[in-house]
Amino acid sequence: MFEPSEHRPTEAIVDLNAIQHNVRVMLEQMDDEQKLYAVIKADGYGHGAVQVAEAALAAGAKGLAVSTVDEAIELRQSGHRFVPILVLGLTDPRGIAEIIYYNLTITVSGLDFFAKAYQQLEDTHHLAILEDAKLRFHLKLDTGMGRIGLTSAAEVAEFAKAVEDFNWVDWEGVFTHFSTAGGGPESYIDYQWNNWLELTTAVPESVRLRHYANSAMGLWYPREPKSDIVRYGIALYGVDPKDQLPSATKSPLKPAMSIVSEIVHVKHVPAGTHISYGATYEAADDQWIATVPIGYADGWLRRFNGIPVLVDGNACPIVGTINMDQLMIQLPQEYPVGTTVTLLGQDGQLENHVSMIAASTDTIGYEILCGIGKRVPRIYLTDDI
Ligand SMILES: *Cc1c(COP(=O)(O)O)cnc(C)c1O
Repeated sequence: MFEPSEHRPTEAIVDLNAIQHNVRVMLEQMDDEQKLYAVIKADGYGHGAVQVAEAALAAGAKGLAVSTVDEAIELRQSGHRFVPILVLGLTDPRGIAEIIYYNLTITVSGLDFFAKAYQQLEDTHHLAILEDAKLRFHLKLDTGMGRIGLTSAAEVAEFAKAVEDFNWVDWEGVFTHFSTAGGGPESYIDYQWNNWLELTTAVPESVRLRHYANSAMGLWYPREPKSDIVRYGIALYGVDPKDQLPSATKSPLKPAMSIVSEIVHVKHVPAGTHISYGATYEAADDQWIATVPIGYADGWLRRFNGIPVLVDGNACPIVGTINMDQLMIQLPQEYPVGTTVTLLGQDGQLENHVSMIAASTDTIGYEILCGIGKRVPRIYLTDDI
């Protein structure tokens, strides 16, 4: 199965087979001409960008998407040398030499970028880099997200005309992002869709890749013309974009991450014993109390203290406040030090599903997964080893 980390038993187990299964779930809904890009920003939503990239590409993903140039460079350096990597956020034009050197595809939201980038290459005596490479970019359109991108067909037309002056750039794609496909008014999807159709009329034919689908749009709102790329994020990790539970939706997605630890200390306490900071918890009767080495510094936040953890198929309440590095739980009976504690994932008949935790702590699955701290080692399950 997995190797326990040597000095602390807390770990995130990432099932790469689940990642591959989730890629195939989406591919089955797509046409052959559409490409799936695995969105692995924020270290693969906390799962580990390099490992998720490898698994997703092996299952049929055709490209990767990240948020920043630094994330993209990390992937190139880890051996993904030729696969397209799209940087979804805006980048600083002063990084132009590295963007071209690492063969990245960037997102542009206006003309400004090009003049500044060219100036930078000139100032730093790097113009020679343009002799055998072009700057590849996708133009972002803001159809209602209100984040980045051009907002009108007139702006797009002006951009299209002006960009012809830059013979060192390759305008490969154009894209937008829907703000309510993963929750919010569905009519807003139609509003954004109409804007998309209108704005893209001003995009030249030569721009090959036109895409608008994230997980939610890809899974639930396929439209014609299809999205040439599906930017597949949260569902890649097996989590429903709206945090609907699989029991309610019969979703075929498989969550990839579980978090487990072990009991490191156990004691029998008399009624009246107080537990943890603030002495807010007082045992009502004699109880078995165990200590688990995970806390808010690991991403197990103080507001998760209403979420029971799973021990030997039992749901055990967290007692008292969650500390930075440890938390205490009440056991139904004595269990020895070394007993497995499941914080996220399945234990017997019970499952702590990330969407269930999100719903009861007023957040979203995305935020919980991204918040799992660096200190928690990721252990990878795969059929290949
Ligand atoms: C993060 C992101 C995605 C992925 O979204 P999911 O909802 O996780 O599938 C797609 N496109 C853009 C522009 C993004 O920023």
